[in-house]
Amino acid sequence: MLTDEEVELYRRAGHIALQVKKDVERLIKPGVSVLEICEFVERRIIELGGRPAFPCNFSINEVAAHYTALPNDELRVPENSVVKIDIGVHVQGYIADTAITISLTPRYENLVLAAKEALEKALEIIKPGIRVNEIGAVIERVAKSYGVKPVKNLGGHNLAPYTIHAGESIPNYRDFLSLWKIKNESAYAIEPFVTNGAGVVKEGNIVAIYALKKAFKVKSLKRDELKVFTYLSKKFKTLPFCIRWLHDLELPEENIISVLEKLSKRGILHKYPILVEVKKGIVAQFEDTIIIHRGEVIVTTRS
Ligand code: MN
Ligand code: MN
Repeated sequence: MLTDEEVELYRRAGHIALQVKKDVERLIKPGVSVLEICEFVERRIIELGGRPAFPCNFSINEVAAHYTALPNDELRVPENSVVKIDIGVHVQGYIADTAITISLTPRYENLVLAAKEALEKALEIIKPGIRVNEIGAVIERVAKSYGVKPVKNLGGHNLAPYTIHAGESIPNYRDFLSLWKIKNESAYAIEPFVTNGAGVVKEGNIVAIYALKKAFKVKSLKRDELKVFTYLSKKFKTLPFCIRWLHDLELPEENIISVLEKLSKRGILHKYPILVEVKKGIVAQFEDTIIIHRGEVIVTTRS
């Protein structure tokens, strides 16, 4: 059962995410700095009383997800590109996860509409007791009606306090193995991804986002490793973070990266490389967060 207080926290996070989404949409133009956009999103979340649940994801064209600006990033929004902004907000650990796609060329409007309509149709049918592969089937059907493909190895997920992917995935296609059902008194992110490529993403070679696997004490860490680990576990618990967020560690960037590398080799830290469409297809995504309370579906990132 979600308590009234928990419902309120989910709603507050959703409300902030919605506002930030509206604010950032106006900034997206060719030539704008990706670093400035990411920092704007994260600053705005805090101004509105939330905390970022993960670094602002700003993924361009064939990059489906997990890019965020690196420190001193000089990347700018390219002309005629398709950009995805994925925003995470939490209020005391209760998360809102939402994303939009903007096409800066009429050429990919169709792809963007496919992702948007897939999300609308998924939200129309979602209710407690529905099998998640029925949601996937709807997403797949809409994508195909636009002549594009769903991205099969990305999908929605349930949410729990301080946990973005709480263990259950909602496929973007009719996956016969995804038999579990949407439950009352829970929270989910629904996020159709569609592409004009093969419909599969793979890890790319840029890592901009990390998360601790466990936030409790780990034995026999060296001095710098312990300093970084303690800082991360206090500040982010197991939520994702990026190097831009680590400046008050007061360590040179190279040292931070080498410590993160060591923590990851020891299995303490998870790296989230960028996800790229295997045939370099353009990818579009829309995402909203819902909670189901007393049998009623509430889209927290809209109302
Ligand atoms: Mn998201
Ligand atoms: Mn998500």
